Amino acid sequence: MDFVTTTPRLCVTITAPTTAELRRRRDLAVEADLVELRLDTVSDPDVDAALAGRTSPVIVTCRASWEGGRFAGAEVERKAILRRALELGADFVDIEWRAGFDDLIAEFGPRIVLSSHDFDGVPSDLAGQAHAMRATGAGVVKMAVKASRLADCVTLLDLSRTFGADERFVLLGMGDAGLSTRVLAQRFGSAWTYAGSVRDVGQISARLLLDQFRFRSITASTAIYGLTGYPLGHSVSPAMHNAAFDALGLDAVYLPLPASDVDDFMAFAAAFGVKGASVTIPHKVALFDKVQDVDTLSRAVGALNTISVRDGQWSGRNTDVAGFLQPLRERKVRLPGCRVSILGAGGSARAVAVGLAGEGAVVTVHARDAQKAQAVASLAGGTVGAFPPEPGSWGLLVNCTPVGMQPKTDASPLPAAALGPGLVYDLIYNPGVTRLMRDATAAGSDTIGGLDMLVGQAQEQFEWWTGTRPSAGVMRAAAEQRLSEFNVDENHLV
Ligand code: NAP
Repeated sequence: MDFVTTTPRLCVTITAPTTAELRRRRDLAVEADLVELRLDTVSDPDVDAALAGRTSPVIVTCRASWEGGRFAGAEVERKAILRRALELGADFVDIEWRAGFDDLIAEFGPRIVLSSHDFDGVPSDLAGQAHAMRATGAGVVKMAVKASRLADCVTLLDLSRTFGADERFVLLGMGDAGLSTRVLAQRFGSAWTYAGSVRDVGQISARLLLDQFRFRSITASTAIYGLTGYPLGHSVSPAMHNAAFDALGLDAVYLPLPASDVDDFMAFAAAFGVKGASVTIPHKVALFDKVQDVDTLSRAVGALNTISVRDGQWSGRNTDVAGFLQPLRERKVRLPGCRVSILGAGGSARAVAVGLAGEGAVVTVHARDAQKAQAVASLAGGTVGAFPPEPGSWGLLVNCTPVGMQPKTDASPLPAAALGPGLVYDLIYNPGVTRLMRDATAAGSDTIGGLDMLVGQAQEQFEWWTGTRPSAGVMRAAAEQRLSEFNVDENHLV
């Protein structure tokens, strides 16, 4: 297989408790172009057994503990394992630059992946280090640095431009801020990307890389979109937007972009030509200063949740308002004159209040902080009410608090006795049916869950960016699938 190519390959990292299990997992990685066999993770490293019967190219790695690996034995023993792998014809063997195994590099140069891992950050002499590593004659230079900011990926992008077209290298940003170096390996000129379950370096699974981020279809012309905020935690937005790009056959990818501040986002966006982004806390307000064109709706809400590059300038919008109203319109709920009780007085309550005011609803805000409640009520020309609201005092009740969200799904912002006939709209989307919604149904209310709004605001964003309205069904299915994965495995990265 030719690894000097503009299309990066997919290397799946295989770890296991024993060599036998390593081999079994190796053979299950059918989606991989090559597999990295991490012999340092097994209790009984046996190179011959690990390599026997392989059907795809391999990198043999036996990472030293001083380089973030798990091999606890002597260096002489580790070196013998690596030499044996080379003698047995392993396609590549990973040798740490700091190991000083110069004789192996001299003897087996083209098959050596010379690696360096900096878990503290980007070393100040990164370019000098790259130069020294390239000068060794190793076939592939792999440099991995801890990425604490998106801007660290820009540093790696700049470094990639110093390599010649015939040089093979892999540049990686470790951690969530470095995800672009894995998904957009093509932009970095990396010979391959790594996928797997080594979460502490920021690896994501091959399935996520291939199915959600469509790694194999990313080219130099793929348009980049993303979600920015800090920290990002779990989000289903990448699943929704990438599924919609896929369904519509659009050459675009949507990434989580955890920017430590808005300047960090802007630096990344400029370097990679990001075309648009969803915005979440805390950048929803901070981005106002960076965006040249903000519409009146976003100003009324006091937050924007979507930005887009238009004619070389950033524009900002708020699609939460339209997303909130969409399910009400679909259900033909008559809002003019409707008595609406909003629970909570945070960011989403502001968007809900502005949306309801625009429809002529009569708004009362119920929140534990009277001052915040008054500020939200004034957005809708409404009033502040007691907490909890009187049963029968509202026709529509909107929960804008996080009470009842995963993992505290037994909680409800209201006692069941405070509910009655009407319509209850819970902005929470995980779980899909909250305790509040169950109690409301029992009290004779209709209900709407937060997933409808989440999909609605995402449809608005997508349409604003691309000019095409995506299918709600495609986005909803992708969100539901991703939410079910989060709930099973809390360790998922995005
Ligand atoms: P936020 O800005 O933090 O506001 C939360 C509000 O809830 C604040 O007023 C807070 O009061 C109040 N609150 C928190 N815990 C409470 C409790 N135990 N009892 C009474 N009030 C409580 O959050 P947000 O951005 O508005 O989000 C709120 C919820 O809506 C979250 O679950 C979020 O996931 C969901 N949401 C959904 C969508 C969607 O598309 N479906 C969009 C946005 C938000 P204090 O200010 O006194 O702390």
